[in-house]
Amino acid sequence: MVATDERYNDDYTIDMLIQKILTSDKQYDLSKIVTAYKLAEKAHEGQFRSSGQPYIIHPLAVSFIVLELGMDTDTICAAMLHDVVEDTATTLNDIKNRFGQDVAMLVDGVTKLTKMSMFDKEQQQAENVRKIFLAMSQDIRVMIIKLCDRLHNMRTLCYRPERKQRNKALETMNIYAPIAHRLGIKSVKEELEDLSLRYLDPYAYAEIEQILEFKKESREEFIQSIKDKIAERFRNETFEREPVIEGRVKSIYSIYKKVFINKRSIDEIYDKYAVRIIVSTKAECYNVFGIIHDMFTPIPTRIKDYISSPKANGYQSIHTTVIGKEGIPFEVQIRTFEMHETAEYGIAAHWKYKEGIKGKDKMEQRLSWVRQIIEAQQASDDAEEIVRAIKTDLAPEEIVVMTPKGKPITLPVDSTVIDFAYKIHTEIGHSTIGAKVDGKIVPLDYKLSTGEICHIITSKDPKKGPNRAWLGIVKTNEAKSKIKLWFKRECREENIIQGRLELEREFKRYRINVPEEERAQLLADDFKRHNCNSMEDFYAAIGYGGITLSRIMPRLKDKYLKMYGNDINDTNDTNDSAPSVIPASPESRSAVILDDIDSCVVKYAQCCNPLPGDDIVGFITRGYGISVHTRKCSNYRAALERNNPEELERWCEIKWSSKGNSSIQTSIEVTAIDRVGLVCDISSILAEARIPIVHSSSRNLRNGNAVFEATIKIVSTEQLKNLFEKLRRVKDVISVDRASS
Ligand code: MN
Repeated sequence: MVATDERYNDDYTIDMLIQKILTSDKQYDLSKIVTAYKLAEKAHEGQFRSSGQPYIIHPLAVSFIVLELGMDTDTICAAMLHDVVEDTATTLNDIKNRFGQDVAMLVDGVTKLTKMSMFDKEQQQAENVRKIFLAMSQDIRVMIIKLCDRLHNMRTLCYRPERKQRNKALETMNIYAPIAHRLGIKSVKEELEDLSLRYLDPYAYAEIEQILEFKKESREEFIQSIKDKIAERFRNETFEREPVIEGRVKSIYSIYKKVFINKRSIDEIYDKYAVRIIVSTKAECYNVFGIIHDMFTPIPTRIKDYISSPKANGYQSIHTTVIGKEGIPFEVQIRTFEMHETAEYGIAAHWKYKEGIKGKDKMEQRLSWVRQIIEAQQASDDAEEIVRAIKTDLAPEEIVVMTPKGKPITLPVDSTVIDFAYKIHTEIGHSTIGAKVDGKIVPLDYKLSTGEICHIITSKDPKKGPNRAWLGIVKTNEAKSKIKLWFKRECREENIIQGRLELEREFKRYRINVPEEERAQLLADDFKRHNCNSMEDFYAAIGYGGITLSRIMPRLKDKYLKMYGNDINDTNDTNDSAPSVIPASPESRSAVILDDIDSCVVKYAQCCNPLPGDDIVGFITRGYGISVHTRKCSNYRAALERNNPEELERWCEIKWSSKGNSSIQTSIEVTAIDRVGLVCDISSILAEARIPIVHSSSRNLRNGNAVFEATIKIVSTEQLKNLFEKLRRVKDVISVDRASS
């Protein structure tokens, strides 16, 4: 824990800091730190905290926490000075002249982060998050100081007004604690979470605190007796260095998550009691693991080996839950001293125990995640989405899936084989056509679990790309942004057409009437925000989903009214800036001939798989063109029943093109009693009928049947009917259907 003893004693002095520096085992430039203190003290003179204490207490406290994490002289100086540029007359240049470029850069970074609030307007939010990550990628020490600053502010949050408390706690829980988690700084992460929870759910917090307090003595006694037993047994073993055995206190928030979020009873939480054993080498870890299982009865489902498959943030340990003579389960964590440092201090361990630079490789690995988030943002400008991305990417429950060569790949829970493919390599993701898990063919939306071996089947066609439908399937933002980027690059033409259509439709809805050549002027602000240089860029960005029109329309309407005045279009009802919705039945809209639309913006709905010849209707999707449904489709019928004008407006009449030579893809599914030669028989019927197969796969069911699936190109319903007739006559075939995907 960070400074448990100083935690509620908010009375820091420079003498205490000096004392702590002198007793540390690292070399510090003490006079530089004291000079920084003197400057900060003078600069903040006459300023006070909400608690009524002199302001200097705050930078002192932050320096303390930074020192505890083992950071270097420059980081401590910057922590001391982190509020002076913002709050006092001291300039960045003063700091640069007196403390050097590094300290000035760190102070500047922290100042910039402090200035912004996550609860600003939406567009601002995306910009803020981007700044956080850019600051992190430049020098991670900026983020470490910011985390310590937030930690001290959270410790003293009780002095702030109630409304501020909630906002700060929410922001800490959503953004800062997850960042601390990803940087592996567990001590800071756990304290941030506990402090946030206290304000976000005070009743639950008090309840858990009470439970932990209840029978505290007997619990401590129990843990002590376990520790004694293990120590006793260790006396017969030889270790490179005396192992450390410690009882572990579970954080309040981690219990909260299990009880209130996962709805487990408090008795089910096995790791309420926990013992940690720290040894010198990996081999000793596994040796101790064996000894523990020899001494106590292990619960087989609760063994986790994070030494051979580390977590995404670099965490390593063996966890096993065992039951002692008393029948009380408890968790044992086994790790080396080095793993322990990484677990507690994360990225900061590089400064604490090594020279910052030496551990660069591991640090690079940790920071690759920061870079990924920055890249993901290039594919999306939607603030809400970015914040959601951070939340899911930052604190995921993780699974570990193996490549066929045995390389462990860490993914968030619910990841699909497509996520896996993109995690291995972008190109593998793009060229994925199928996957095998533990040797069996699985559909692309198959959700992976820990321990499975996943083999991705790729296409040899270099032009093969992702499918837009994947965006609805994948879990990780990494995969999502890579798919979006692919469409951004590969389908620019289609995106422009699509984007222009969408913008014009929205303009109509909002009664904005601006000729093409004047649009760039109206959109000037948005051009800047989305890095567009031309209308085409802007259309393309709408088309691939980088710009969400519904978010910017109200603002555009305001600007439009300012630029063009009130009375250009609104002849009937004035002062009405709300979008007008004209109820329209599908029949009242003009028919779209399918062949006139670029094939990239038409998709065939998977709920009803329409085929040429079917009676069809179209649905104008947001972002993926028109989706074609059969008139009988249950989704269409449901929409008619709902009779929501806004929704009905998006259904439109469409017709098959008269040319008749276009073919479309559909999937079929043949179920049969499994036998040798079955697939061959089916394939030869397809070949005879001259039906092109885009992709096919087969799998065995447990009941001895087999399912053959194929995506084929078909020109009419007639053709498909004939094919079905023929397939049904194949020996052992039970059923033939259109597949749902
Ligand atoms: Mn501060």
